[in-house]
Amino acid sequence: MAERRIVVIGTGYVGLTTGACLASLGHQVMCVDIDVEKIDRLRAGRIPMLEPGLADLVRDGQVSGRLEFTVDGDAAVAGTEFLFLCLPTPKGADGGADLRATESTVARIRDTLPVGCVVVNKSTVPVGTSVRIAGLLDRPDVAVVSNPEFLREGSAVTDFLKPDRIVVGADVPEAGARVAGLYSRLRAPVLVTDAASAELVKYVANCFLAMKLSFVNAVAEMCEHFDADVDEVLDAVGRDPRIGRSYLRPGPGWGGSCLPKDSDAMLRMADTVGFSFPLLRATIESNAQQLERVVTKLATAFGGSLDGARVGLLGLTFKAGTNDLRGSPALAVAELLAARGAELLACDPTVAGGTEVDGITVMDDPYQVAENAEALVLLTDWPQFRALDWVRMAKFLDGTVVLDTRNHLDPEKLGSAGLVCHGIGRSLKP
Ligand code: NAD
Repeated sequence: MAERRIVVIGTGYVGLTTGACLASLGHQVMCVDIDVEKIDRLRAGRIPMLEPGLADLVRDGQVSGRLEFTVDGDAAVAGTEFLFLCLPTPKGADGGADLRATESTVARIRDTLPVGCVVVNKSTVPVGTSVRIAGLLDRPDVAVVSNPEFLREGSAVTDFLKPDRIVVGADVPEAGARVAGLYSRLRAPVLVTDAASAELVKYVANCFLAMKLSFVNAVAEMCEHFDADVDEVLDAVGRDPRIGRSYLRPGPGWGGSCLPKDSDAMLRMADTVGFSFPLLRATIESNAQQLERVVTKLATAFGGSLDGARVGLLGLTFKAGTNDLRGSPALAVAELLAARGAELLACDPTVAGGTEVDGITVMDDPYQVAENAEALVLLTDWPQFRALDWVRMAKFLDGTVVLDTRNHLDPEKLGSAGLVCHGIGRSLKP
C-alpha cells in the first residue's frame, strides 16, 4: 500500500483517532484544529480524551514523523492528496445538523486544495452534504467522498483499526476507490455506495440504536408494573439471533454527543420531505419520559418530595470508559432533580473533586458523597462503583435509598448493608 499525504481537519474524538490510526497504517498525516491550546498539548503528547491505546498511537506517530499537529490549516492543505473533515455537526436551531464549521472550512480552503485532491467527509452530516460541499468547492478536479465514522468512545482505536465495516460513499467511483485504498491494510469489509446512501447509513445506525434503547426502557417499565425482572426478560429475548443481546440494557435514558443530535437531525431530514417518521418521534419522546421516570422513581422512594433533599450522584459521564460529559443522561437527570429542589453532590472517576459541573459539587471519592447525602443515584456504570465497600457507604449515608439506573450494583450486597437498592425494571418483591 502506498503511503499517502493526508490532512485531517478537526482534531477531536473522531479526528484525532482518524489521524493517529491512519498514521499507524503508514500514511503521512497532518492534524489541524482551530483550538491552539489543544494543538500545543497534543504536540507535547498530552491527549485530552480518555481512549485506550490512543496516547501510544499518537506518540508512535510523532516519533516516526508520520503524525504532526498544526493550527495552520492553509499551509497544511496546500500539498495534500486527501483532506478529511472531522468537524462538529451539533444540533442547529431548526433541529437539523449545524454545518457551519464544515461549510466555512470548505469555503476557506477551496482555492488552496491541490489539483486531484479528494475531500473525505467523516462527520455525521445530512444526506446531500457531499453534493453541497462539491458545490461550495466548485472545483471539478476535486472529488468529495462520504466516509462516515462508526467508532464508539472508550474503544475508538480498536473500532477504527478493527471495524465491522468501512462505508465509502462516492458519486465518482475512482475517488471512492482511492479512499478505500487508504484502509487496505485493515483487511476490513469495505462497502462502496453512492454518497447519499453512505450519509444515511450513519443516521440509520444511530437512530436504530436509540430506538432499541427506548424500547428496552419501555420494556423495563412494563416489568415494573407486572413484577417481572427486566434482566431476565432481556437475557431470554436477546438469545434470539434475530434480536441479539447487545444494546439490550435499561438505563436512565440515552444520550451522549451523537444519538440525541443525530435522531433530531434525522427527524429534520424527514420533515423536509414531508415524512413525519412517527417511530423515531416516539423514540425521542420515550427517552424524555425515561429521564423523568428516574426522577419520579427517586421522589417516590424518598417519600414524595425532593425539595431540599441532598442527593449523591455516582457517575457523570454519558457512559463508563470515557471522560465525555457531552449530552450525558446523568447531567439531564441531575438537571431534573435540581428543578425539583434537590441539592446535588457527585463523584466521577474522570472529573476532579472540587470542581463544579452544571451546578453540581463534585467530590473526590464516593464515600465523601455518601457522607453528605440522604440518597444515592447511580447514573454511570463505572466498575469502581460496583466494587465499593457498601457497608462503609451505608454507615456514611444519611438514609437507605439507592437508585441504580443501570442495574449495575449488587442488590443483595446493598441489602445486607441495610440499603434498599431500586433498579430499573426490577421487582422490589423479596
Ligand atoms: P469533537 O468536538 O470532539 O471534535 C471536533 C474538533 O473540531 C474540535 O477539536 C474543535 O476544536 C475542532 N474544530 C471546530 N471547528 C473547527 C474549524 N473550523 N477548523 C478546525 N477545527 C475545528 O467532535 P467529534 O466527537 O470528534 O465529532 C466530529 C464529528 O464526527 C461529528 O459530526 C460527530 O457526529 C461525528 N462522530 C462522532 C463520534 C463520537 O463518538 N464522538 C463517532 C462517530 C461520528
